[in-house]
Amino acid sequence: MSTVAIVRCESYDQIAVDAAVHEACLLANMPNVAGKTILLKPNILSDAKEDRSITTNSQVVRSMVRLLKEQGAKRILIGDSPGLQKPSFLPKACGIYEVCTQEGAEWVDFTKQPRLTSIPYTHGKQLPLASILDEVDMVFSLPKFKTHQLMYTTGAVKNLFGLVPNLYKSPCHVQFPTREQFAALMVGIATVVKPSFSLMDGIIGMEGPGPANGRPRHVGLLLASCDALALDYAQATIMGYEPKSIPIIAEGLRRSLGSAPTVYPALDARQLILPDFLRIEMDKKTRFFHSLIIPFLVGKYVRWKVKRERKAPVFLPDPCIQCRKCIDICPANALTMEHKRIIIDPSVCIRCYCCHEVCPASAIAVDEVITS
Ligand code: SF4
Ligand code: SF4
Repeated sequence: MSTVAIVRCESYDQIAVDAAVHEACLLANMPNVAGKTILLKPNILSDAKEDRSITTNSQVVRSMVRLLKEQGAKRILIGDSPGLQKPSFLPKACGIYEVCTQEGAEWVDFTKQPRLTSIPYTHGKQLPLASILDEVDMVFSLPKFKTHQLMYTTGAVKNLFGLVPNLYKSPCHVQFPTREQFAALMVGIATVVKPSFSLMDGIIGMEGPGPANGRPRHVGLLLASCDALALDYAQATIMGYEPKSIPIIAEGLRRSLGSAPTVYPALDARQLILPDFLRIEMDKKTRFFHSLIIPFLVGKYVRWKVKRERKAPVFLPDPCIQCRKCIDICPANALTMEHKRIIIDPSVCIRCYCCHEVCPASAIAVDEVITS
């Protein structure tokens, strides 16, 4: 039985957020944290100002820390590892580092001596994961309510990919090029990490071309669950998707990572569907085909299919600030800069959209958004 507690919270006023987080966590049967060491994993895709709605809002993180202290947690750690993070990275712009210093939580660096870990459902893939996992009793996933250009939504399960330190992440797109293969990797990581609890910041989410270049969308909700997959299922429902069409949810259900929500003790996601939410367009023609035969396809044929079905990003010269972040993150080495313009080699591009995620200037367009 998977319980997802959804409560209203209309603004980031700290008193209101404290009350809503308290209500959501207790309704969702948050585990007993007394005497435990807890790792909080917010979504800090890039350390951007909070009005861009890229990161889990610091007020939500602050309320979570306060609740854990009130419930007797021994030690509270907070960490994430954005793709282009330097080891000295501190999330100051988004306000989460300030939460650490003011509320007595500790910021942890995931790049320190990560441990190589076998990831299930990936044909023997090993990936480095943050070694802090060995020291904590529980991991709490704190995702943001957002769309995702590649995976349609990002949520409590996908958020755990941040436990793979910085530049180890983007090469995964080369080895797992289809959405289904990448979903299996995400479910495998969540299976290893076993998050004990998830709290999603859906007060102001993101719609359109997320997870970094969409537009903020007031949703006015907090979602909480002990089942990360059920929480993502509820989010997809509210966004207007058929949840089982989201590759991570489909794969998670298939692998028994979690289940569809069976109990909504407060608001019901099915009554909260946003009719005008800007979603990422689904690959309807090939989804069924992929679900049947992708596991049996390898190599060049898969890459050919991906290129045929997904569009390469388009680089817009006017907003580009020539920061080169797209070049640094591109796992396929498909990008160069010539005369202050980014040039893409579409024959090399694997359509992972990592460049789109890290671009700070909305200078990369990916044409896959619809209004429902
Ligand atoms: S150009 Fe962008 S979408 Fe293409 S492979 Fe590089 S990072 Fe991925
Ligand atoms: S990341 Fe964006 S702004 Fe930076 S160089 Fe690439 S396209 Fe230009």
